[in-house]
Amino acid sequence: MAMSDAPLDTFGRPLGSLRVSVTDRCNMRCRYCMPEDEYAWLPRASILTFEEIARLVAVFAGLGVRKVRLTGGEPLLRQDLATLVGMITRVPGVTDLAMTTNGLLLAKHATELRRAGLRRVTVSLDTLRPQRMLAFAKSARHADLLAGIAAARAAGFERLKLNTVVIRGFNDDELTDLVDFARAHDAEVRFIEYMDVGGATRWSMDQVVSQREMLDALSRRYGRIEPLPPAESGPSWAPAERFRLPDGTTFGVIASVTAPFCRTCDRSRLTADGTWLLCLYAERGVDLRDPLRCGASDEALAALIGATWRARSDRGAEERLGLSQRGALYQVDGLRADPHREMHTRGG
Ligand code: SAM
Repeated sequence: MAMSDAPLDTFGRPLGSLRVSVTDRCNMRCRYCMPEDEYAWLPRASILTFEEIARLVAVFAGLGVRKVRLTGGEPLLRQDLATLVGMITRVPGVTDLAMTTNGLLLAKHATELRRAGLRRVTVSLDTLRPQRMLAFAKSARHADLLAGIAAARAAGFERLKLNTVVIRGFNDDELTDLVDFARAHDAEVRFIEYMDVGGATRWSMDQVVSQREMLDALSRRYGRIEPLPPAESGPSWAPAERFRLPDGTTFGVIASVTAPFCRTCDRSRLTADGTWLLCLYAERGVDLRDPLRCGASDEALAALIGATWRARSDRGAEERLGLSQRGALYQVDGLRADPHREMHTRGG
């Protein structure tokens, strides 16, 4: 398809990047994402095969998607993920394949993933303190996470990013430690404002550390912080705003709560069971599995996806910002009624 035919939504946003959740399962229980003991999992038979995922990615690529990010749940819990990486690498049009992981299994898989064609990795690292991770994410495997980061570096990924969700009273005293850690590991940290999505049932505005507060705290330690000019900051559709410290160290902030970037959002999400979501906050998605398994042609799938994207008017984070009273988007009952509302199902 000529790029001039690529669909634009009602705000002129292209279909540029696709996040593919390969499993809803996770081996951590972060309080901001999966705080419960029990979950309703997607039925096994509904989970897309690698062939089905690769075929859908190819249809999306035909409509303009260039960036694909594997996520979850924890993507490394999906058996033989490197095979899927290899399949997506061969899809014409996909120029950037990345993965977001909690890192616990990364030491085992980094080399084979890199060899299979994965270009970039983002590792979630909320704290440098093992005891905090145990309390906050019910995981005693902090050493495995650090080993995963080291393995990613050694495997030679093009860029290594570290994602930190900043929560007041939990890890807001670690911002400078995390910047120093990232610098020492040749990585870039991206601080994410705590969002009221999916399983964040204990969310409240007073726990959100805003971008402004983060920058103030960092400049107290490092001095003047400069925003990177757009040309250096990355693609204009990227969610993170990037900054530079006086010594040249760069970091990013994803201010999804206090300064949402809906107007430049070219992202959509495919869940492990083939539900396509046009916004992280969307109430429901479009089922692509059913047409896929009922024999729809690539052209028919492209027509469905293209028409749906052209009608897209979502700006979920901006709408949430406009609320006078803001609390968690869902309570547990609402999440149990439809697991597609969970962040671990949608992929972050
Ligand atoms: N398991 C993988 C991981 O931990 O990176 C991938 C899935 S996880 C849902 C993707 C990202 O979403 C992580 O960086 C996580 O920190 C982020 N995330 C989850 N819940 C969030 C929330 N309530 N606010 C902000 N970010 C959140």
